[in-house]
Amino acid sequence: MSNAHVLPPLPFADNALNPVISANTLSFHYGKHHKAYVDNLNKLVAGTEFADLSLEQVITATAGRADKAGIFNNAAQIWNHTFYWNSLAPKGGGEPPAALKQKIEASFGSLDACKQELATAATTQFGSGWAWLALDGDKLKVVKTANANVPLTEGMKPLLVIDVWEHAYYLDYQNRRADYVNAVLDKLVNWGFAENNLG
Ligand code: MN
Repeated sequence: MSNAHVLPPLPFADNALNPVISANTLSFHYGKHHKAYVDNLNKLVAGTEFADLSLEQVITATAGRADKAGIFNNAAQIWNHTFYWNSLAPKGGGEPPAALKQKIEASFGSLDACKQELATAATTQFGSGWAWLALDGDKLKVVKTANANVPLTEGMKPLLVIDVWEHAYYLDYQNRRADYVNAVLDKLVNWGFAENNLG
């Protein structure tokens, strides 16, 4: 297991996102759900052709293969969750850095329009999934994906993501997904991380 996948540390304390996301939610979401994807993937790839691949290589090699769905789902969920934690910051929200803001205005007209499109994607994703800001060629796009799916496999470059699986918000917001999404967009979203991902 020398090449075992590991659960990366959270980039903040487990109570740092209070009151938008509680320590209780984080303890389950990170400590149980994210960890389980890591443990499951390590079991699923042990002794297979995927055992020595990086996480991104596993995702690319198994995307769209019905016979490898278990491996894909666990690998992509590890990647998506690590990306989600980095898409949040205790003092997030506010204004994006200048270069990103300019790109947002060129693609959506305004920051508010971009946030609105993200909120709409996040609240209309039917069932479990993710709402992404992604770079598609030279243009920013909002995309939603179901279950474990990730825009990486569609040739897009993710900039930030909001988890809209019920486990992301149900302890704090019950069925009020829109309240969770709007609070994340206003108070936690890490525009600096998104700008770094422009590359
Ligand atoms: Mn999740």
